[in-house]
Amino acid sequence: MRQALRNSGIDQVLAGGAKPSQLSAVDLDGIELAQTGYDLDGGLVDVHCHLGLGPQGATDRQTTLDQAASAVSAGILGVRDCGAPTDTHWLDAQREAGALVPRLVRAGRHIARPKRYLRGFALELERPQDLPEAVATQARAGDGWVKVVGDWIDRSLGADADITPLWDEALIVDAVAAAHENGARITVHTFAHATLNPWIEAGVDCFEHATGADSDQIQEMASRAIAVTPTFLQVDKFPEFAAQAGDKYPRYAATVTALHAGHEQQVAAMYEAGVRLLPGSDAGGSLPHNSLPRELLAWRRAGISDSEIMRLATVSVREFLGLEAHWLGSVTYEANPAENLQYLLNPLAVNLSGAGATQIPEQPVRF
Ligand SMILES: [Zn+2]
Repeated sequence: MRQALRNSGIDQVLAGGAKPSQLSAVDLDGIELAQTGYDLDGGLVDVHCHLGLGPQGATDRQTTLDQAASAVSAGILGVRDCGAPTDTHWLDAQREAGALVPRLVRAGRHIARPKRYLRGFALELERPQDLPEAVATQARAGDGWVKVVGDWIDRSLGADADITPLWDEALIVDAVAAAHENGARITVHTFAHATLNPWIEAGVDCFEHATGADSDQIQEMASRAIAVTPTFLQVDKFPEFAAQAGDKYPRYAATVTALHAGHEQQVAAMYEAGVRLLPGSDAGGSLPHNSLPRELLAWRRAGISDSEIMRLATVSVREFLGLEAHWLGSVTYEANPAENLQYLLNPLAVNLSGAGATQIPEQPVRF
């Protein structure tokens, strides 16, 4: 199939010197794309990734463009960027010029405290009471979202170190209000059970990971329409985190081990309870930006059907973020991925709307 497409009109047009952005709809009429594949309008949307973030923190522009191209080549046409160390609005002009860049909905910078998140990633507030003001500033800098780090290991506790909340309840109430007053929704990174209730009570919009949610909290999240991004690939790293913590932080190691052990069941319970689940890869930092198809395959472990996973990764998440399929483009697969998610691993062609480009990924997507 890939070979057939490579021999179709697209390659010849490209070989003739036309830039991909100069291809028009008319040029594409004669090719086999529609007949030979399944077109997924809007492609996939990754609701949790970090363009411009690498293992060491902020990346340079070329690396950021490479990350974006890797996402698009994996069929990811829209992202909610869940915290970036630099302003990536310059990517929008690159997209308009025909570069392989997904449409971005940004959350400004992550907000954390010194030594209470990965070094070099977040805006680190020396004074916790500055949280509401920082939320207001990031709300104005982003595209309708703010991202706060809700909990992290507190190594200052030595052998008693565990994952604990970063902010007290009064600050959380003011932080959520500051986001909403500035026209943004707010999402919170959280692994620990103890972190969730104050944010739920304060009217948070979304949780990232939420591995600590028990059945009462799951019911609350469902009834209050608080969305959750479960991040299987990230949680799959918890045994590594536990091994690294070793004897130095035994409580932390025990916590992440237990969270990992219960994760599939917990995601299944959230799905059953009607919590709005959002597919996100957490790419940037340690995971590559083409990870979402692999993340979606992992969702099968929660007993969710392929067609439901596809609904969540497309129609549902677009509605949640306020994105229209025609703003994003389309991705062509060999067959309908809602019938078998495996097709997501090898998109045949990508059409970025707005940029006017139909492109075949230069090489098969590798994972
Ligand atoms: Zn993240």
